[in-house]
Formats: sequence, C-alpha cells, structure tokens
Amino acid sequence: MPDTEIRVTLPDGSTKVLPAGATGRDLAQAIGPGLARAAIAARVSGDVRDLTRPLPDGAAVALLTDRDPQALDVLRHSTAHVLATAVRQLMPHARIGFGPSIEDGFYYDFEVLTPFTPDDLERIEAKMHEVTAANHPFVREEVDRAEAKRRFADDPLKLERIDDLGPNEVISVYTDGPFVDLCRGPHVPATGAIKHFKLLHAAGAYWRGDERRQMLQRIYGTAWFSKDDLEAYVRRLEEARKRDHRIIGKQLDLFSIQEDVGPGLIFWHPKGAMINFQLRRFMEDVILERGYQLVYTPNVTREQLFLRSGHLPLYAENQFPAMAAGEGEAEDVRYRVKPMNCPMHILVYASQQRSYRDLPIRLAEIANVYRNERSGTLHGMLRVRGLSMDDAHIFLREDQIEEEIFHLLDIVELVLGKTFGLAYRLDLATRPEKKLGTDAMWEVAERGLEQALKRRGISYRLDQGGGAFYGPKIDVKFNDAIGREWQGATIQLDYELPERFQLEYTGTDNKPHRPVMIHRAIYGTLERFVGFLIEHFAGAFPLWLSPEQVRVLPIADTQLEAARRTAAAVRAAGLRVHLDDRSETLNYKIRDGEIQKVPYLAVVGQREAEAGTVAVRARGAGKKQEILPLDDFVRRLVEEVRTRSLTPLV
Ligand SMILES: [Zn+2]
Ligand SMILES: [Zn+2]
Repeated sequence: MPDTEIRVTLPDGSTKVLPAGATGRDLAQAIGPGLARAAIAARVSGDVRDLTRPLPDGAAVALLTDRDPQALDVLRHSTAHVLATAVRQLMPHARIGFGPSIEDGFYYDFEVLTPFTPDDLERIEAKMHEVTAANHPFVREEVDRAEAKRRFADDPLKLERIDDLGPNEVISVYTDGPFVDLCRGPHVPATGAIKHFKLLHAAGAYWRGDERRQMLQRIYGTAWFSKDDLEAYVRRLEEARKRDHRIIGKQLDLFSIQEDVGPGLIFWHPKGAMINFQLRRFMEDVILERGYQLVYTPNVTREQLFLRSGHLPLYAENQFPAMAAGEGEAEDVRYRVKPMNCPMHILVYASQQRSYRDLPIRLAEIANVYRNERSGTLHGMLRVRGLSMDDAHIFLREDQIEEEIFHLLDIVELVLGKTFGLAYRLDLATRPEKKLGTDAMWEVAERGLEQALKRRGISYRLDQGGGAFYGPKIDVKFNDAIGREWQGATIQLDYELPERFQLEYTGTDNKPHRPVMIHRAIYGTLERFVGFLIEHFAGAFPLWLSPEQVRVLPIADTQLEAARRTAAAVRAAGLRVHLDDRSETLNYKIRDGEIQKVPYLAVVGQREAEAGTVAVRARGAGKKQEILPLDDFVRRLVEEVRTRSLTPLV
C-alpha cells in the first residue's frame, strides 16, 4: 500500500514505517515519549526542517535534540522571531529586516525612528519572556507571491525581499502568536521551547549591508538550551570585554587610531612599537637561520603590475583607488598603493636567471600593505586597512614541496607552539571543483602537504574541496586564553602566479621549467597578532615582549642614588628599565606599576641600598616580595628573556 504508508531511514540504519503525511513529530512519538519531548527539529536528507512538516517517503531522517549543534542554530533563529514579535508589540511601526542565527547567538534588524536604548532592550527582553511563556506554536504556511505581498503590504523591507525571490521559489511564512514573518525556517515547535536567552546590545547596520541604503537598528542576543550554558557564555563575554585590546591598548598606551588620519590605520605608540619591534626581530632571526632572504620592495606601484597578476580588476574593490602618475610619465599611467607583496617578490625572483640548484628561493619582507576594507567591518587592531604582514614567498620545484612544508610547520611550531604556548590546529584544504592545472599536479602538491603533516606527526582536519582554485593550502587556527578561536598562519601553494609571470628556472635537463610558489605568513599581520596577544595575555605580556620589563622604585629620596645604580645595572644587561623617581608614596608607585602590568617592580629601600640587593615584586604574585642580590636578579631576568619564557623565573 504505497500511498498510505511511508518508510524512513534512521541514523542507526533502521527503518520506520509511518502513515503517509506523518511529520517529524509523529516519528519522534513513534520512537518514544522521551524523544518526542526532546526533539527540536528534523534533519531530512541533510536539510533541517520543522518537526511539523510531513516527511517524504524514503528520506533519511535524524531527529535533532539539544545536543546537536544545528539544533542550537534553530533555537537561536527562533529566538530572533521572538525578538521581532516583542519589538512589533511594543513598536507596531517597526519594519522588519533580517533575523539570522549567528555564532553564539542571533540578531534582528529593524527600521525604527530612533536607535534602541538600553532601556528599550530591557523592555523588549521582558516582552520576549511573555511571548515564550505564551508558548505560541510556530505555524508554517506556503503562500503564493500575491498573498505574500498582501500579508506584508505595510512593510517595504519585506516586499523588497519578496521581489528578490526567484519565480520557482517556495514562499513560506511563519506565524507565532501575533507575529508573522517571511521566512524559510526551520523553527522550534513553539516559543515555549525558548527559555534561556539574553539581549546583548544594539548597533546601526545598513539595510542589506549596503552603505547607500538606509541605516537599520540591529539588536544582538544570545540563546542556549540550558541556564548553565547561558551563564557561562555571559561570563565569557564579560571576560572578553575586560580583555578588549582597544581598552587595554589605551590603558597601557600601546596604540591609537586617529580621526585626522582615518579609520583602520594604526599608530604604534612607543610601548606598542616595542612589542612590534620584538616580534619582527624574533621572526627575522627565525627565518634568517632557515635560509630566507630579506627584501624591501616599494609601497606604490604602477597599476599594470596588479593587472598582470590578476588582482585587478578582480579585487579592485579591496584596493584603494588609483592615483595619477608621477611627473614625466604618460598621462594614462596610474599608480596603486600595494595591497599585497606577491607580485613584488616575483619581480625580484624574475630579475635574474635561476637554476634548479638555487631553489628554494625564500624571499621575506615584513611589509606594509593597504586594503580598502569596508569601514563597517573595521575593528581596532583586529581588522584594519593598513596591514604589516610578515610575508614570504618561496619559489621551489615540485619535488621540494614536502620538505619545504615540513620546515614551514617547524616554524609554526616554534613560534605559535613553543614560544606562545598556543594549542593550534591545522586544516588542509584540497582541490576545489573549479581549479587550475592538471589532476597530476594537484596530486603531487596535496601529497606533499599531507606527507609533511604526517611526518610531523600532527593531526589535521581535511577540508576536502576547500582549497583556492590556484592551489591547496594549510590554515592554522588556535584558541586564546578564554577559548575563542583565531585564524593564524596560512601556507598557500600557488600554481597561477608563476604561470602569469612566466617564471622559470633551468632544470638538470638544461631546459626551462616553471617553479611552484608558496605564500606564507606566520603571524599573519602584526596588527591582528598584537591585538590577539593583548587579549590573550590581558596586557600581561611575557618578559621578552614587555615594553617596560623592570621598574625601579626607591622608597625615599635618600635611596635615589642607589636606585639609579640599580636601574643602570639592569639597563646594562640589555633590559628595558624605568626609574620611578616621582615623589609619590611607595604604595602609589607599586599600584601604578601593577596597573601598567610591569613584570618586575624592584624596590630599593635603605637596607637594599646598603646590601646591594633589591626587593622584587613579580607581576601577579600579589604582596609577595623576594629579596635578591642585584646581580642574581639581573641574571635571572636575562635568562627569562633569552628563553622567551612564558612564566617568571624570579
Ligand atoms: Zn525564521
Ligand atoms: Zn603572497
């Protein structure tokens, strides 16, 4: 009786026979009452759907409970509907934009006359609790275009979206109590399933992300399946706020962004510049020991270089507009500030005949490049328009790929693993459907990357088909001290640019061959990496990176001379020291040194002045104080810097 029954397959491989028209909820009930209570949505042949929708015959069905990450997306998106329901009840004239789930939460955009205030958010959140308490079911209807337009006649934003839908697209609307929304779904069965949520903040956002359109007001919120999860998330947010690099950067006077100069352009103040300088010096030492050569290349270039590389016109919108030519050049010549270094390093490579014996050639440059990022996406040091990349391009033979990647992973381990103590993970992205070159070529490249990963004995995740069309790559990701994930180094193989620039080397057969190219950055950009370091260490940098390593504090003016000698001895050992000779109380000076997160405060009182010792307070050790002979103190600090230790040696 094929018309009255359907058969579905469950994740464990078993099948279930149900009456035709049975829904996900019917399936849950057929399996057991526990599952019927716990089910949030159904995954039907890979698609997440409402529990209330009929199941198609022959489908593979998984019922999602709160343990499934996709169920969390459904919960959060449903909470966005509840938010819109509450806003429309309080402000009936609010127009409705988009309301997706996002990482850790959701947002909804509204067109309202005035931006939402914190008081508004409180009122809205209270109203949301009424909506969830009412336990309105989410009711799905499929409607035709005319009916959809009639339903949303009072909301031009929705009408615009209806006009965007393709002629064959199914138009669905969802109703929860008093609110109806144009939406594809899916949602939780009823608003009562939403219990643990919080509105976070509101911000302006352009309609459809387009700065030529009107500004909407976006409300962000978060939602979880349990109270514990919600509370843990709110604590994490508070911790992240305390670590915000923009706030710590100001407190410690590390950097600024100036209105006169423009957004996304970083001023490194002396203390921030010292961190930048130490990071550069460390990286340059590391790579010079490993056969890299430094180059310095121009910051502006004739635009034809980027036409040849293919970056123009493809990525024109990420580049700053062209400027006129220099004096004495043809009128149609245009210049660009460089958004990347690759073509520059290619020109250095191509400046002379290369032999197979010369390869790999590794050209490195910590260089400033400029990208015209949209102003709305800029964020302190983490998203900028002026980027200092620790860039390098390696030109090599195909048979050298594995060895070179092996050595690159060594640098990653030294810098991220050993030096910064980061637990990082690697993603290997392989050939996409649309790709350059032959399968044989990709075979060699991918095998080289995989072999290198295996030889290093590190686990990696395979991102099948996630590579760029011009070559496979390895992405490095790591977590910070409070568990947030960051994108770090990338190692990218490239078959395209050597082709475009007709790069060659002379092989053992005396014939010209085309080299492969690797783009790689370990820090990524110094801006983003330092932004990360500020948040990761909450401003308490390891000694080797600390702008001010030691602060000498005389207790009274009578010890000023001894304090000067102490500071001089510390400085003579190559350490960065500051003598606080202000006529403030010792307690005040200690407090100030702590606020500035100076790793060591060296107090010099009468006893210390006479004995040639210092009373040392290590950062984070509270009131604990250790009396050390001056030369012993200095010796330990020098060792701590030399080993780039993450923990104090004093
Ligand atoms: Zn929806
Ligand atoms: Zn590059």
